[in-house]
Amino acid sequence: SSSAPGAHILVFPHPAQGHLIPILDFTYHLSTRGLSITVLVTPKNLPLIQPLLSRSPTSIQPLILPFPTHPSIPPGVENAKDLPPTSSTADIVRALSFLQEPIIQWFDSHPNPPVAIVSDFFLGWTEGLARRLSVPRIVFYSSGTFLVSVLNHLWPSLVRPTDELVGFDDLPNKPSFEYPHLPSVYRRCVELGSPGSDWEFMREGMIANTTSWGAAYNTFEAMEGAYLEHVREKGGHVRTWAVGPVFAGGVGSAGRGGSGTVADGDVISWLDECPDGSVVYVCFGSEVLLTRVQMAGLAAALEKCGARFVWVVKVAPPGHAAEEYGVVPDGFEERTAGRGLVIRGWAPQAAILGHPAVAAFLTHCGWNSVLEGLAAGVTLLAWPMGADQFVNARLLVEDTGVAVRVCEGLGTVPDSAELAMAVAESLSGSRPERVRAMEMKKVALDAVKEGGSSYSDLDGLVKELSALAIKKNGVKE
Ligand code: UDP
Repeated sequence: SSSAPGAHILVFPHPAQGHLIPILDFTYHLSTRGLSITVLVTPKNLPLIQPLLSRSPTSIQPLILPFPTHPSIPPGVENAKDLPPTSSTADIVRALSFLQEPIIQWFDSHPNPPVAIVSDFFLGWTEGLARRLSVPRIVFYSSGTFLVSVLNHLWPSLVRPTDELVGFDDLPNKPSFEYPHLPSVYRRCVELGSPGSDWEFMREGMIANTTSWGAAYNTFEAMEGAYLEHVREKGGHVRTWAVGPVFAGGVGSAGRGGSGTVADGDVISWLDECPDGSVVYVCFGSEVLLTRVQMAGLAAALEKCGARFVWVVKVAPPGHAAEEYGVVPDGFEERTAGRGLVIRGWAPQAAILGHPAVAAFLTHCGWNSVLEGLAAGVTLLAWPMGADQFVNARLLVEDTGVAVRVCEGLGTVPDSAELAMAVAESLSGSRPERVRAMEMKKVALDAVKEGGSSYSDLDGLVKELSALAIKKNGVKE
């Protein structure tokens, strides 16, 4: 009948904020197009998906399974942001793979089991799960197609750590990277991926991703068209959808990562008092911790530049020497009172970036931060540190010209005079990067509007999923 619910799918996020946030936004977009969705979550991460569940209570329900025990993960830790230095992302991925049997049991006993699985690209092992369940899997890349082109070029071989540049001659623009700037997920696999290890398991999953039924990317045609074309041709996926930036029109930034020392509303009121285009926003994502000396260098730069700022300081999770990380120098907040706001913990980033007072963003170039910055039309001051960030920075600085490189490296202490100057200049308004950033804002938002490239790709994806349900239920169109 016409009241039959839309196709039922299972969404399986990877529990790191940089992965979780975009897949939840993506899930929300799917739900608004009529799909019925189950989101797999472990108990400690349930509060993080609550904003999504409250937005779509009738079409999205959680499947809560206990986080399996793993020898390297302390009890109670279920999210990358809470990992002690002795455990890794690959351990989380391995631990979650122990959910395979419970998931199969849930499937087998469900009156209307999912017709497809959408899962994060870190969970490449779910490709095997989908095969066992005889359902198609869509891999959700919480990243863009440039990164995936680079990774897919790397996976088949393990390049030894080298002083030479690693070249990617088969990619558009023929990029090359120093070994330490290759995506860290790959470097970890090279360095720690002994047979039977969690990193080896991770690499196998990454290779399995390339054989998935379909792939969705949090990117948009106008930004990464050449690489999108490349993954379409070389990635082996007939079904490739570019659906980003997914945060636009998504669940919203409230409550999606915890709380901070300044209430969301107070941050916005503070910004309301600042002139348009006068504030630099400083935040390095959900996982990076800055050492005491890095904090001192950055604080000195913010003090010297004379500009207004919002600085989000990440506090070390248990297991780290708390007094060594995220320490704001004594007296700094008093000396910058009135023109600067320090937030410890979690800040409403997307809302801050979207505020007219903010014109520049000192960022580690995490992909979500990049998209949020671009869609806000702010100048990106790039300080790539690890993960995929050097690759993202190359796309932003060299390929697209929307960012300025101001520092580099995870443990690097910034030169405070140079950084102060870069921040001050970024707020001057006439920089070419700002002009290009404003152009990029327009094309990013156009992509997700009705008729835009990402909007159409989302529609196309939902059509394919609905067709699967029709096929399964034997209903003729
Ligand atoms: N984020 C936030 N508040 C914070 C820190 C991070 O809202 O205080 C969000 C940010 O908006 C982005 C995500 O967390 O959506 C971080 O993802 P990104 O890819 O930028 O970096 P990662 O955390 O993966 O290093």
